[in-house]
Amino acid sequence: MDFPTRFDVIVIGGGHAGTEAALAAARMGVKTLLLTHNTETIGVMSCNPAIGGIGKSHLVKEIDALGGAMARATDKAGIQFRTLNSRKGPAVRATRAQADRALYRAAIREIVEHQPGLSIFQQAADDLIIQGDKVTGVVTQTGIRIHATTVVLTAGTFLGGKIHVGMENYSGGRAGDPPAIALSQRLRELPFRVDRLKTGTPARIDGRTVDYSVMQAQPGDTPLPVMSFMGSVDEHPQQVNCYITHTSEQTHDIIRANLDRSPMYAGVIEGIGPRYCPSIEDKIVRFADKTSHQVFVEPEGLSTFELYPNGISTSLPFDVQVDFIRTLKGFENCHITRPGYAIEYDFFNPQDLRHSLETKFIQNLFFAGQINGTTGYEEAGAQGLLAGVNAALRVQEKDAWAPRRDEAYLGVLVDDLITMGTKEPYRMFTSRAEYRLLLREDNADARLTEKGRELGLVDDIRWAAFCTKMEAIEQEKNRLTSTWIQPGTAAGDQAAKVLDQPLTHEYSLMDLLKRPNANYAMIAGLKGEAPELPEQVTEQVEIAAKYDGYIKRQEQEIAALRRQENTRLPDNFDYDTISGLSNEVRQKLKEVRPETIAQAGRIQGVTPAAVSLLLIQLKKMA
Ligand code: FAD
Repeated sequence: MDFPTRFDVIVIGGGHAGTEAALAAARMGVKTLLLTHNTETIGVMSCNPAIGGIGKSHLVKEIDALGGAMARATDKAGIQFRTLNSRKGPAVRATRAQADRALYRAAIREIVEHQPGLSIFQQAADDLIIQGDKVTGVVTQTGIRIHATTVVLTAGTFLGGKIHVGMENYSGGRAGDPPAIALSQRLRELPFRVDRLKTGTPARIDGRTVDYSVMQAQPGDTPLPVMSFMGSVDEHPQQVNCYITHTSEQTHDIIRANLDRSPMYAGVIEGIGPRYCPSIEDKIVRFADKTSHQVFVEPEGLSTFELYPNGISTSLPFDVQVDFIRTLKGFENCHITRPGYAIEYDFFNPQDLRHSLETKFIQNLFFAGQINGTTGYEEAGAQGLLAGVNAALRVQEKDAWAPRRDEAYLGVLVDDLITMGTKEPYRMFTSRAEYRLLLREDNADARLTEKGRELGLVDDIRWAAFCTKMEAIEQEKNRLTSTWIQPGTAAGDQAAKVLDQPLTHEYSLMDLLKRPNANYAMIAGLKGEAPELPEQVTEQVEIAAKYDGYIKRQEQEIAALRRQENTRLPDNFDYDTISGLSNEVRQKLKEVRPETIAQAGRIQGVTPAAVSLLLIQLKKMA
């Protein structure tokens, strides 16, 4: 048979983790196969067609800075863009885009199909080929054996997937797609710790049957944001409004009266759901005193009337869904096009992974995405990219790479997962990062693109654009630092006027820009002509001026921490031989098996004293 049955990397699953993994490996020049249930569902958004939001857009921009696809697809598919927290500091500012579901999928598919070195094959992976403690390939549902040096598993919600609508349930990977049962059973035979999580989605509605005129319109922002560092507003399709409506006491009464028919409350579902994206029945029970909840009415696309009512995800029986959704203002006569449902699925304890996302028990096997206990496209995509990179690095016989917590939200995400594990679907927030001021969405390229270039992830076009931007930022910072304004001169008088304060002595333009009421546009042309610079450049100059002191302080803290990050704990480190450790701490260290002293210190309950004991033991072993 003249069919390629040997690849460097096989990625199982064409979702958000799988596409970024396959693209990253292929960009690094290794022969890659994307093996997925259905080629038509590559890049499908299982739930809300929206990308970004607080904490999440930081991940999207990091994927982008490393040459990934998510932000580029969002720019081609986004039909409503907003900057969240725009009045707050730059660390928590976030871009969010409502996407056209079909355009997003098409954009991802196009990027995947145009990636040299990447092949696609439509088949379910039913088994892994394992020799000793190493994975060496995959067996598909029709018995085709495909070999590879490394395998990345990104099966999403499909492993042992079970869909619930009221007390009815059936096996499925998500509505309309089959589950992965054989592979789930096979993985349960391996030494991984497996558990169940659940997530849910609301009913979809025919937009022609709702009355938008009684809802509050929510237009996108002007000027229009872009998601990718390489993106432009010219790529955006037509922009449309989202809307807001509310639940009422009547809605809540209907839900409350039917809780005994909810699989969650009747004890049929065992998996834990996402705390920050609760179902409507959950909200009504947990926030019993609230008489109304907001519902964001979001279009699914430009070529469909379907809409996504964000905020009422549910697993209640269909008849209850019809009744309670019709109590929303503007939804009185609505037609439901798809019922809401909950899905339970297998996930693996991420403490069984290394920072590279390679599993500890099976060499050359990497896990990424929802199967590691996360929720969200962005969290999945970021992990996929990292797993793809490390799968390719292993093929190239190079050391693994993972960004540190002070370098990227991707570093925070992976370190949180493998250090602390998770009992509920993990989503990213800016509050999870201790160095928020350094990890902004606007500087993801400055933090990561150089590394991406070194790894082989960043192409010549992106690299050239990045270098031009960095050079322009540096030049403009130099100009502002070396341009001085004296009181009593024409420039000094103008400065006093725009800043509404007389100058007491000589200042550089950079000094003036640091003042709370100053911005770049006010200051740049006070003396000499300001160069014409893109906003991406002037924004960086302004942030550098305003946050210089805080940034330097965070950088000093990081330098101290870095010594601990660089102190590695060997895989076979014997915690039983260290006297002085409490049994609880010993147990936790054995459970997590931290890779560095810094990671050990982040495990809950591991005290500084315990860390000192580890350091003493390391010294003895040296
Ligand atoms: P997926 O996007 O699920 O992709 C998995 C891919 O693997 C699919 O292409 C599948 O066909 C393929 N696959 C699986 N098994 C095999 C196999 N054996 N062989 C070959 N191919 C295989 N996220 C939120 O942030 N908020 C929410 O409220 C939310 N609600 C959700 C509700 C539902 C009902 C679902 C299904 C998901 C929800 N999500 C939500 C999660 C979001 O969809 C996921 O986080 C994201 O899609 C995970 O990406 P992934 O790449 O890990 O997996």
